[in-house]
Amino acid sequence: MSSLLVDNIGELVTNSEGGAGPLGVRRNAALLVEDGLVAWVGPARDAPAADRRIDAEGAAVLPGFVDSHAHLVFAGDRAAEFAARMAGEPYTGGGIRTTVGATRAATDDELRATVRRLRDEALRQGTTTIEIKSGYGLTVADEARSLRIAAEVSEETTFLGAHVVPAEYADRPDDYVGLVCGPMLAAAAPYARWIDVFCERGAFDVDHARAILACGQAVGLGVRVHANQLGPGPGVQLGVELGAASVDHCTHLTDADVDALASTRIDCMCAEGQHTATVATLLPGAEFSTRSPYPDARRLLDAGVTVALATDCNPGSSYTSSMPFCIALAVREMRMTPAEAVWAATAGGAAALRRTDVGRLARGARADLMILDAPSYLHLAYRPGVPLIRQVLCNGVPQCRP
Ligand SMILES: [Zn+2]
Repeated sequence: MSSLLVDNIGELVTNSEGGAGPLGVRRNAALLVEDGLVAWVGPARDAPAADRRIDAEGAAVLPGFVDSHAHLVFAGDRAAEFAARMAGEPYTGGGIRTTVGATRAATDDELRATVRRLRDEALRQGTTTIEIKSGYGLTVADEARSLRIAAEVSEETTFLGAHVVPAEYADRPDDYVGLVCGPMLAAAAPYARWIDVFCERGAFDVDHARAILACGQAVGLGVRVHANQLGPGPGVQLGVELGAASVDHCTHLTDADVDALASTRIDCMCAEGQHTATVATLLPGAEFSTRSPYPDARRLLDAGVTVALATDCNPGSSYTSSMPFCIALAVREMRMTPAEAVWAATAGGAAALRRTDVGRLARGARADLMILDAPSYLHLAYRPGVPLIRQVLCNGVPQCRP
C-alpha cells in the first residue's frame, strides 16, 4: 500500500469537525492519503512518514468541487442564440430543440469527445465529481447512448428524457410521457443513477412530472427536479413530496416552497451536523448567461435550507464548466459569503448527490482535492476569472499540473 503526504498546507478546508467554522478550516496542516482515501489529517508538525510527498508550499487545499448539475452530452453550440439574447431577445428554453437536432445527428465518437473535453475542462478547474444528464436525445436510442457515454466518465448519471417534449410529439405530449416511462426508461435505467424532469411551463406540467419521476423511482432511480427556473410553479413542492435529493434552479420561490424545503432537515456528517434531505441547487451561470434575476440564496440559507452550487453546464443557457466562476457569482450577485459559497460548491454538491465520501477531507473520504495558487479559499471569489487551481488529485492521484 503506497502512501502520499500532502504537506505544508497553509489553509486546509475539510468541511468536517475538528476545524474552525462551517468549512472546518485547519491552519499549517498536512493530509495523508492511503489507497486513494484520506487516512489522516492533522498539524503539519505531527505528519506521519509517507512514501511520497507533495509540498503545498503554504497554499490553500480544498476538497474537489462537486458539480451536481451538468448537461455534457450534446453536439453543436448556440453561440448565435447567446449573442441574440445579449442583444435583447428573452430566454424561453425553446433553443433546447436546436441542440436535440444536432445531438441526434452526431456519432457516438463525436458525443464522447465533447463529454471528455468538458469533463477535462472541469477537472482543470477543480471539479472532481460531476453529475451528467442526458436530455438532448429524446428518442429511446439517443437517450440510452447519451447515458452510456456519460457513464464512461462519471458515476453520477441522470436520465432526463423529460427535458422538453420533442417536436414530433408536440401535439401529443401524453404519448411522449408514455414513451419516457416505458421503453425509454427501460433502455436508460441501466446507465443511470438518477431521474430528472424539467417541470416548467412550456416543458412538463406537475402531473406529467410526478408520473415520470414515480416511474423512475419504481426502478430504483433517485429523484432530482429542474424546478421554478422561469417562473413560480409546483416543481419544488413536488420534489419535496417525492423525497428528491435536489431541486435545481429555485429562482422563483414562494414562502411555502421555502418552508417545504426547510421541513426536510436531517442529521448528517457535515460540520453543522444537519442539512436538508432535499437540497436547493442554485445555478447562477444560467442567470448570468440569460441575463435573468438571480435566485435569493440568503432567503434559503436564513431558513436553514441546504444550498448547493453547480454549473448547469449546457450549450444554451450556461456554457461554463467553471465552479470558481459560480462561486464568484454567488458571492457577488447572490450575497453568499465566500465560506457559504465554497461549502455549497463542495459539501453542498455532495449532499445534493447524497454522497458522504466526497466534498469533504476527513479520514475515510476520497482523496479528491485541489491545491490553489493562493493562500486562502477566499481568493476563489476575490480573484474572479483567474486560474487559481495549481493541482488536482482524484483518489489521491495527481491529474494535471497546467
Ligand atoms: Zn439543467
